[in-house]
Amino acid sequence: MTGKCEKRVAVITGAAKGIGRAIALELAGQDYYVVINYLTDRAGAEKSLSLVEAAGGSGEIYPFDVRDSTQAEKVVADIGGRLERIDVLVNNAGIIKDGLFVMMEQKNWQAVVDTSLNGFYNMTRPVIERMVRARSGSVVSLSSVSSLLPNRGQSNYAAAKAGLNAASRVVASEVARLGIRVNVVAPGLIETDMIADAPKDHIKNLIPMARIGRPEEVAKVVAFLCSPDASYMTGQIVSVNGGMC
Ligand code: NAD
Repeated sequence: MTGKCEKRVAVITGAAKGIGRAIALELAGQDYYVVINYLTDRAGAEKSLSLVEAAGGSGEIYPFDVRDSTQAEKVVADIGGRLERIDVLVNNAGIIKDGLFVMMEQKNWQAVVDTSLNGFYNMTRPVIERMVRARSGSVVSLSSVSSLLPNRGQSNYAAAKAGLNAASRVVASEVARLGIRVNVVAPGLIETDMIADAPKDHIKNLIPMARIGRPEEVAKVVAFLCSPDASYMTGQIVSVNGGMC
């Protein structure tokens, strides 16, 4: 699509499946034009878009790698130039490469930090620059309960997500007076491919609600934080975890 988008525009990274897809569907249902980012899973992104369109929404798919800062700058300039607005950014792309710290290979530390923390910087900085000019906008980033509670084997993931929490709070304080809100959602265990190998029966015992969450339960909170209903919320880390902390 080219030309000023009449709908509000939401860019969602890593939206070919899982929580990102649920967020795209939820925001499209709230009348956003959704830009569905994917890394390599084009079929998954097309499925997300077809679900959006089947529900009466609209959007587009867009391949890029949040780890690549040059690419991210170009993508933001392209979307912002073509649609003439970016109202919402959801930094959802994330990966895990778990392992005990003492045996953690540098490449596994780097990959997780590159995606969740550097990906946050790569996308959010150019988007915030546009939002500052527009004097409006909302950024929501997906962190994790692992950034708040110690989870053995996730030092890389916890560090990346805790960095994202801290950076979000600082950025929120810098742009609060300009009509821009920056918040974080920290899910607990959510039923997606990311936790396919997790020992779910054991983990359920650690969750007061004694069940794994659904992507839609996270998406609702993300959409709330994006919306004017959350107009006095910024710099917050909102847990969605069945009562884990
Ligand atoms: P998922 O693995 O189902 O989806 C993650 C998506 O991110 C995938 O589509 C993947 O291709 C994409 N992605 C990865 N690297 C990318 C990159 N460099 N550029 C663009 N896209 C990239 O995982 P999910 O469970 O849907 O996770 C979504 C977010 O929620 C992640 O940030 C994750 O850390 C966070 N989270 C998930 C859980 C959970 O239990 N599932 C818990 C806490 C936090």
